[in-house]
Amino acid sequence: MDFLLSLGSLKHSQLRHLAVRVQEFLEKDEVNCAIEKRQLKLTHCIFCKSSMTVRWGHSSGLQRFRCKQCRHTFNELSGSPFAKLQLRQKLGTYAQCMVNGLTLRQAAHKCDIALSTSFQWRHRFLQMPEQHKSKILSGIVEADETFFRESFKGKRTITHRKSRHHGRLKKGEQELMVPVLLLLDRTEHEADFVLKRDNREEIYPCIQGRIKPGSVLCTDGSQIYAPIAEEENLVHKRILRSNPARTIENGLFHIQTLNNYIARLKGWLNRFYGVGTQYLGNYLAWWRILADESLLTIRDWLNEALSS
Ligand SMILES: [Zn+2]
Repeated sequence: MDFLLSLGSLKHSQLRHLAVRVQEFLEKDEVNCAIEKRQLKLTHCIFCKSSMTVRWGHSSGLQRFRCKQCRHTFNELSGSPFAKLQLRQKLGTYAQCMVNGLTLRQAAHKCDIALSTSFQWRHRFLQMPEQHKSKILSGIVEADETFFRESFKGKRTITHRKSRHHGRLKKGEQELMVPVLLLLDRTEHEADFVLKRDNREEIYPCIQGRIKPGSVLCTDGSQIYAPIAEEENLVHKRILRSNPARTIENGLFHIQTLNNYIARLKGWLNRFYGVGTQYLGNYLAWWRILADESLLTIRDWLNEALSS
């Protein structure tokens, strides 16, 4: 093609400019592909589930449909988290920001959108934590709890305690910590749960039915897990704190893989300077998806976000 041949005569600055433009087109194209893919799946009315739907013109660049049964109209993005979105074409760029794990402010700057929009989009992209949680773990499964500082970031009012001066604790006041249970097997299936309390009543329902019977459950010395392992038909391996090697049976059983996972997660979360407790589950999901290398492209993010 003449066009491609002519690239050789461009100056460096022109090439860079071109690369930026090409990237923009690619991101827009990814959005359109994701929308098209969603349209193919839209075979039933989103209101009454009837299959008697017909195409009903276009509106704001989207295909509209009408249901002959309930007479409602909807478009190809209705029912998705991006249904009423104005700045749709920037979603591709935003998906790229999600891939790169950018902060709200960085993403807002990159997409040239308001900070409030950036916030709204991030959480729309993150409305898929449940679907990506591993349903069944097996083999050697490591379980442990970790704690995050309770935070009211993103909330307008604090209801159950007085606000603090510069976030400092008062004398004698204890920092409230939010427990999170994490399960990880050796094939990198992960499940995480934000708990109200760190006790058996909260932990058991998270594990119940989620680990294949006969698997090995590795935990720390906590007493909570032994009865759960027994009820779920799991072989329980407790790694006591007093054990200097932190492993048992020649290094086969340990909770180091999970501890490393948690350390990397906490290191990654540092960039956000504290995460609001109400959104903690969303951030765990984001990390889970980033850590899962099979799901790292813009297209994956868009398809995920549009399929919910
Ligand atoms: Zn209908």
